[in-house]
Amino acid sequence: VEAFHGRSVGVFGLARSGLSSVRALKAGGADVYAFDSKEELREAARAAGAKIVSWEEWPWDRLGAVILSPGVPLTHPKPHDVVLRARDWDVDVIGDIELFARTLPDVPLIAITGTNGKSTTTALIGHILKETGFDAQVGGNIGQPVLDLEPPGARTIYVIEISSYQIDLSPGLAPEVSVLTNITPDHIDRHGSLEGYAAVKKKLLQQTRKSGLNIVGVDDDFTASIFTQLSSNGGAPCVAVSVGKVLGRGIFVLDGALYNAQNDRATKVMELSAATHLPGTHNWQNAAVAYAAVKPYVTDARALAAAIVSFPGLTHRIEDVGSVGKVRFINDSKATNADAAERALVCFDDIFWIIGGRAKAGGITSLEPHFHRIRKAYLIGDAAEEFAATLKGKVEFEHCGTLAKAVVAAASDAAHFAAEAPVVLLSPACASFDQFKDFEERGEAFRAAVLKLKPEAA
Ligand code: ADP
Repeated sequence: VEAFHGRSVGVFGLARSGLSSVRALKAGGADVYAFDSKEELREAARAAGAKIVSWEEWPWDRLGAVILSPGVPLTHPKPHDVVLRARDWDVDVIGDIELFARTLPDVPLIAITGTNGKSTTTALIGHILKETGFDAQVGGNIGQPVLDLEPPGARTIYVIEISSYQIDLSPGLAPEVSVLTNITPDHIDRHGSLEGYAAVKKKLLQQTRKSGLNIVGVDDDFTASIFTQLSSNGGAPCVAVSVGKVLGRGIFVLDGALYNAQNDRATKVMELSAATHLPGTHNWQNAAVAYAAVKPYVTDARALAAAIVSFPGLTHRIEDVGSVGKVRFINDSKATNADAAERALVCFDDIFWIIGGRAKAGGITSLEPHFHRIRKAYLIGDAAEEFAATLKGKVEFEHCGTLAKAVVAAASDAAHFAAEAPVVLLSPACASFDQFKDFEERGEAFRAAVLKLKPEAA
């Protein structure tokens, strides 16, 4: 990053992207001041050449910018003091993606945002591009920080997952293609209101290069309204994407088949049901927006469709981790709330369901319409008593305490159950913090427990 050569820059928050910014700024000849409340992160930044100084002591009169970690509040519930100080001194507050954009303003770049499906869509776009001969550099909110990606070559396309927090910090990012999957009331805490949150998502699409393309999933009210607004404002053209609605123009999915429509004439592109690692209608939305996003780059339609089918899926998201006999084991550890668990429950019949952990408000009461698919529930973690009360009289359940015990109990019951394809599903509808570091560790524990049942299973 040459943008701050010879100038002073403050980096606040030194987890992954912050540390990556320190390294890039140092390599570009900047004088870097850095701070984080965690000692080990301060040490890592020091080793990378930063001056470790509390932000109050930064040379505010000559700072070129503050690089803020996306975890630090910019607005809601109130701006962090470092943000207020920067405003007083008229210093730009930006993120690592902005540094990347200022360094490589014109490279082919697809940016993906939305409430749900960002990681799946980003990974799928990366997979399709790799399978069709491109050098896809995938990063951002998923995987590597953008400044750690490889420099551009002749076939490079950057595929960047961007959260709303990062959009706020990236005013100069001008994607060639922007993708908005959906907007639902999940993460409004940081933006104060759903309207504010939707406005941030819209901002990214307004920043898309005029010669580029916006891809918008139009199946909820907010994105539908954003699509209408953007279609008439002279910015980049917009492609509508729907699952369930026939469109006269755009990309849509009907009964599992993907269609491309122009002038009220729809052409069938492929059967999405063939993509076994994209189960559920929510994944059809991810596949459809990914298809629309890569279409301008990929000329071989057959190879494109084949790449969607060969997508291996993401770990911890309705991930098939193997079978023992007729019993399939599905790891959906990423489902940390009832909404996410619902997406897994609708994918299967005859479910032996492992649930629990640290419960979210509302628990699993909203899932009652799907209880008829559940043959038995296996309760783990803090939420066990609460969930038992919800299930009582409706679904048979057993208190297992730990995930390892739950896997053994569920596997045995499923194996003896008279059904063709019983599924042991970890879709806990809870945060993992009571028993695990994060949802990844929980998912790995599930995988390990399944492997123990029978080593050759997975
Ligand atoms: P994100 O990166 O936006 O959190 P992921 O791709 O990691 O999204 O998916 C996280 C969870 O969100 C999945 O386990 C699934 O339950 C749900 N999900 C994925 N895609 C969609 C979608 N298009 N619409 C609604 N929910 C989705």
